Amino acid sequence: MNISTNTALQEQIQDLKAHEKIIGLVPTMGALHEGHLSLVNFAYQYCDVVVVSIFVNPTQFNNSGDLEKYPRNFEKDYQLLISNNPKTIVYTPSINHVYGEDVKAEEFDFGSIVSYMEGQYRQGHFNGVGTVLKRLFAIVKPHKAFFGEKDFQQLQLVKKLVEITQQPVEVIGSPTLRMPNGLAESSRNYRLTPAEVEEASLIYKALSQAKTMFNDFSINEIKSSIQDLFEDHQLLELEYFEVAPTSTLIPAQTKKTHLNYRAFIAAYIRDVRLIDNLALN
Ligand code: AMP
Repeated sequence: MNISTNTALQEQIQDLKAHEKIIGLVPTMGALHEGHLSLVNFAYQYCDVVVVSIFVNPTQFNNSGDLEKYPRNFEKDYQLLISNNPKTIVYTPSINHVYGEDVKAEEFDFGSIVSYMEGQYRQGHFNGVGTVLKRLFAIVKPHKAFFGEKDFQQLQLVKKLVEITQQPVEVIGSPTLRMPNGLAESSRNYRLTPAEVEEASLIYKALSQAKTMFNDFSINEIKSSIQDLFEDHQLLELEYFEVAPTSTLIPAQTKKTHLNYRAFIAAYIRDVRLIDNLALN
């Protein structure tokens, strides 16, 4: 079912909760693909009913051109979600339903997890993400909310957000769905030609190479080997490659034995910016 007003959604949720149903929320910006569906199906392992919000959040874009260019295809998204699972509630609020008259980002103190990588290269992005999710949690009041590890920094930020705002929602991360060549499914892949999709598999090759090297090489050696890999490929331009512990997300120079590390990449193919990450240990 499609619901676009907050009151209709809240009535529906109250009714479901009165029947002891566990409600999950999967926030999205639409342009749905198999990765989103895998996240929704993952959520159904924990919940009776999953609300998928489709809302292109204006406050998380630091470039108004990007906001305008963001692909929107509601009919296709809706059909995909309902044929995947007819119990799904597709929530499509207007900007006014989410923000009222005040369409601007709040300032949060998320600490070190937003200081580097996406936080560094997309100024203001994470305050916009925090603002919209705080509002969506307050409107939907789900028991659990699900986010892809594909956007790992965002996943850690949401965990921090519910801690700061003390919202009673459990945040759960779901594994990244990849194409057969390793490229993470993404709405941005719609902008790539088939040849570029093949080239872009270098991102996953680099992450896998970092994982293979992790035990036997220093972080500096791993970083320079990944930089060499990208230098050999004309079509892809590396924006950053970092290795960071999952707890702080501060790029590391040296490894500590008791920490969990991930490798993080952002790269451009033409003007299409792709990100990905992988657990190293
Ligand atoms: P977006 O619509 O791009 O904001 O993404 C909505 C949610 O889908 C986020 O929690 C993403 O991390 C998640 N997601 C995006 N791509 C994938 C993927 N390939 N596998 C699993 N989850 C994904």
